[in-house]
Amino acid sequence: MSTAVDTRRRVMTADVRGRTMSGMTVSAGAGVADDTGPYDLIRRRILSGHWSAGNVLTSSGIAAEQGTSRSPIRDALNRLEYEGLVEKAPGGFLVRVRSAEEILEICDARIALDSAAATKAARQASELDLARLDHLLEQADGADVPARLEIDRQFHHAVRTAGRNATISRLLDGLETQLAAYDSTSTAEPENLAIILDEHRAILAAIRDGDGERAGSTMTAHQTRARDLRIATLARRVDGPS
Ligand SMILES: [Zn+2]
Repeated sequence: MSTAVDTRRRVMTADVRGRTMSGMTVSAGAGVADDTGPYDLIRRRILSGHWSAGNVLTSSGIAAEQGTSRSPIRDALNRLEYEGLVEKAPGGFLVRVRSAEEILEICDARIALDSAAATKAARQASELDLARLDHLLEQADGADVPARLEIDRQFHHAVRTAGRNATISRLLDGLETQLAAYDSTSTAEPENLAIILDEHRAILAAIRDGDGERAGSTMTAHQTRARDLRIATLARRVDGPS
């Protein structure tokens, strides 16, 4: 998953004031010029911290680096602006910095939407949906940490799929993109992973019982706990590294 850096290329970036720093060297991960496209490339670089808050990205700079035309890069930057990862700035797009308050707002929106998705799933899940959710929980039990994080993500996607509301799913995708850069370090601790599995089992049980209210409330409790872990991480950031 980690794209070992095997090429280092020069890219046009600028600082917050729009001053161009054309000599800044950033690494282009292996395979970045393959079929993933400019949207995935730019998104991945922002979420990995490769381009961090305050960098200004220019479509001309990235196009020159990638050896492509500017318009697909511009389209990708516009989409990322819509998703909240960058914002228009003099000379390009600024990688956004989010305050702790904004991150909490995003978490609260996710809690509300994910709870609605779980309630809908309890009312509409098909046999196939339930089998898929079962399968994911079986896989999660005993998986190593990176696999667990991916399976847990898929579990939420499967709940949303079972809820059959494409708008809720799309909004949640956007919110999670924004949160990805601010993941809590506590999430992957074994104790927490065990709690997550129990919570996911409770959510699935409610969905299987067709109990929309319980599915919604167990999801709310689960995502509220995840939000509280983020609050703790953000508080530590404010204190500075310890
Ligand atoms: Zn979860």
